[in-house]
Amino acid sequence: MNSVPEYFGSMVFDDRVMKATLSDAVYRSLKKTIDEGEALQTDVANVVADAMKEWAIARGATHFTHWFQPLTGVTAEKHDSFITPSPDGRVIMEFSGKELIMGEPDASSFPSGGLRATFEARGYTAWDPTSYAFIKEKTLCIPTAFCSYGGEALDKKTPLLRSMESLNKQALRILKLFGVKDVKYVRTSVGPEQEYFLIDEKVFNQRKDLVLTGRTLFGARPPKGQELSDHYFGSIKPRVSAYMSELNDELWKLGILAKTQHNEVAPSQHEIAPIYATTNIATDHNQLTMEIMQKVAARHGLVCVLHEKPFAAVNGSGKHNNWSMATDTGVNLLTPGDTPYENAQFLLFLCAVIKAVDDYQDLLRLSVATAGNDHRLGANEAPPAVVSIFLGDELTAIMDAIVNDVPYVGAEKTVMKLGASVLPRFNRDATDRNRTSPFAFTGNKFEFRMLGSSNSIACANIMLNAAVAESLEIYADRLENAENFETALHDMIQKTFRDHRRIIFNGNGYDDAWIKEATENRGLMNLRTTADALPCLLSKKNVDMLTRQGVYSVAELKSRYEITLENYCKTVNIEGLTMVDMSRRDILPAIEANVKELAETCQAKTAILSESACQYERGRLGKLCRLVDEIDAATSTLESVLVKYKTTDDVTAASVVIRDEVLPAMAELRCVCDEAESFTAEKYWPFPTYEKLLFSVR
Ligand code: ADP
Ligand code: MG
Repeated sequence: MNSVPEYFGSMVFDDRVMKATLSDAVYRSLKKTIDEGEALQTDVANVVADAMKEWAIARGATHFTHWFQPLTGVTAEKHDSFITPSPDGRVIMEFSGKELIMGEPDASSFPSGGLRATFEARGYTAWDPTSYAFIKEKTLCIPTAFCSYGGEALDKKTPLLRSMESLNKQALRILKLFGVKDVKYVRTSVGPEQEYFLIDEKVFNQRKDLVLTGRTLFGARPPKGQELSDHYFGSIKPRVSAYMSELNDELWKLGILAKTQHNEVAPSQHEIAPIYATTNIATDHNQLTMEIMQKVAARHGLVCVLHEKPFAAVNGSGKHNNWSMATDTGVNLLTPGDTPYENAQFLLFLCAVIKAVDDYQDLLRLSVATAGNDHRLGANEAPPAVVSIFLGDELTAIMDAIVNDVPYVGAEKTVMKLGASVLPRFNRDATDRNRTSPFAFTGNKFEFRMLGSSNSIACANIMLNAAVAESLEIYADRLENAENFETALHDMIQKTFRDHRRIIFNGNGYDDAWIKEATENRGLMNLRTTADALPCLLSKKNVDMLTRQGVYSVAELKSRYEITLENYCKTVNIEGLTMVDMSRRDILPAIEANVKELAETCQAKTAILSESACQYERGRLGKLCRLVDEIDAATSTLESVLVKYKTTDDVTAASVVIRDEVLPAMAELRCVCDEAESFTAEKYWPFPTYEKLLFSVR
């Protein structure tokens, strides 16, 4: 096999291929479109399309597709082959500039949240030249944006690109004020750390709940879970290792910079992270990564589970969105340098983030809101549902010095001594890690840690970029008109630190005392569930900001509200129906079979011995019969609240029924069924246990 540098990106129509296959003039024109957003000329598009087609055919491709990200949260593709009939009855392979630039898929079956009536089927896909085309399964995939006939965005890419543009515009204004002249653009970069579970396919397929909903709706705790902490960073089992190795190969061929892999906290849980990239590319790559992870797993007899909480009582899976802003000249605007206290430009960009996170806590929270993620946030395995920022001791001390107008006395860098002379010494990082913070500064980037493992990272980054752009715009407006730049700058940094001190919290985010402090003393928002968080999307403050930044129109926001909340309701409804089905058709009959056996044994024993000989059977029979009645009753309750949900038309009202009635009824049913599981003979229990699910991959 070739070496990694040889096959890395071999399935990507990247810069190197463009240079090699396009004329100088065409290449330069395309580059201008990619880097500076200039409109693409038709003749250039035709030449590029032809080069792409030749390149793709040489690599075995027969089809092309516009690859896009509708509001379902997964990617969509409709394949067209390159073939065109030729007069001699055969075919030739064709692909035009028009086909590259624009597609018209029937959009009627994608969720649009009322943006488009069903009879107006037309939707358009438009080539996003900033993300390279690639070949996947013999198909040339062209990353595209997806919009309606009326021009409204029906996807996640369009608002993401808009948010990047608005941040770029405002950041450039600020840099100009600091006398920076050589910068053409500022882009945000993201490195998403992705957690997942690997479960044996045979075991997985025996569980209706996993197959239909991606998570276990029942399951008693196994004798062993994650309490020994023996899985985290543990040595990787051969079957998992083979999977990871093939996954890396597939990702590298697609130009995805897969970098780290390790075991996570829960048994059978793992993580993969790429090297960071421009947000738009990182988003496309993360979507592709999730898809390839599942496809490669199938080849290994495994299922890659991306649900946020597949198993109760062990950690669920999240995604950490490492985010920074950098110039095209390679300067990370969040690098503090050796003397952050004197680095006013850094402090101002830092302020912009602090202000953004405090002003738009609700938007950040709702950008990660899904039925699945609600199980993690605040469950002592992931950050709470309250948004706060971890800054670390040094920056917090600087912030306090500026607020109080006192000089900052910096701490000397501490040299770490590890006690053995053969080990190297190194400078300790200025900030320690804080795994409990939702939004942590980690040296030169922020790590937004609230995302769920199956979330598209687009939403979180749209909100983050837009909110930071808003802060920067306010700063630029003020500074551009200031009489004295230095004084105005100082005052603004001081004001931001003072006004937004409440969002900084360096302590333990899992502590209940913090939630009390955050909500009661600091006035921070605690939006516990999706049903609580989503309505904030339509609050005046948020609509004003997102429309002012040109990221969403009012109609687009309303559609996101509808779709996200509907998705929450539908997800939980499917879970509820699955529980009813499993309870009535599998669990209750299984317990009854066990009851029958016990009753027969009891009868037989009584015939031979005396009544008092059957204490054990009688005890168990009593317990199981009681549980059967309780399960039956809990199932009926769940059924009736599901009917109530179904007959509630308004989506906001329906989400309240889901939150306040359906989810509690599900928890109740699970509780009695899990108790029954531990009292029923294993041979009767109809599903593989947690033990088999979590420990059977070797
Ligand atoms: P951790 O120890 O939390 O895994 P790492 O330093 O390994 O943190 O980085 C995690 C992710 O952050 C990786 O995807 C990495 O590429 C990304 N990352 C590193 N620097 C930056 C940056 N300046 N901007 C955005 N992401 C970054
Ligand atoms: Mg991390």
